Amino acid sequence: MTFSNLGLRAELLRAVEAQGYTTPTPIQLKAIPAVLKGGDLLASAQTGTGKTAGFTLPMLQRLAEGPRPAKRQVRALVLTPTRELAAQVGESVADYGRHLTLKSHVIFGGVGQQPQVDAIRAGLDVLVATPGRLLDLHQQKHVDLSKVEILVLDEADRMLDMGFIHDIKKILRALPEKRQNLLFSATFSNEIQALAGKLLDDPAMIEV
Ligand code: AMP
Repeated sequence: MTFSNLGLRAELLRAVEAQGYTTPTPIQLKAIPAVLKGGDLLASAQTGTGKTAGFTLPMLQRLAEGPRPAKRQVRALVLTPTRELAAQVGESVADYGRHLTLKSHVIFGGVGQQPQVDAIRAGLDVLVATPGRLLDLHQQKHVDLSKVEILVLDEADRMLDMGFIHDIKKILRALPEKRQNLLFSATFSNEIQALAGKLLDDPAMIEV
């Protein structure tokens, strides 16, 4: 099985090739076609399994293929527990999306907010963020989440362990009803199952 068998478009295949990947990992084999179909996804996957490309590649493809709004707006939102993970995911989005014309940016706490506000104002298709800072910027009306088409919760169990559930719930209220939801978690506590039950609509389930 190759990446092109999975139905990815040429711009993404070129980017994957530039990364030096030849064979999709098990999570990529399952997640890429599932996400391309447009439905919700519940995936149990540890770090190191290639999960980032597993959601980033099909997410970028759906954004590239969907109707492009007249004004650039946040169409995909990826939430991560830590700034390190946000930075890594943001790098993957930039790497895999290098041949597409989508814009992405990473925001997290502990640094000045003005450069983040400026980047959002300039227009973004993909926003990668930690929940606290995102909520902060949203409450200050610096970010419009009402056009989000795809939501990814990466390492959802760690986000809950870090006490982000209330921030996440508030962020969910700012999103449109109709959207694609992808939830990645290494473990499935009762709390994660409750979140998945509320968030996901008839999800494809993947375990690797
Ligand atoms: P992740 O689990 O997303 O943090 O990815 C773990 C590591 O695997 C990262 O360093 C990726 O660059 C690498 N990786 C992801 N997909 C592949 C692949 N199909 N082949 C080889 N390496 C990969």
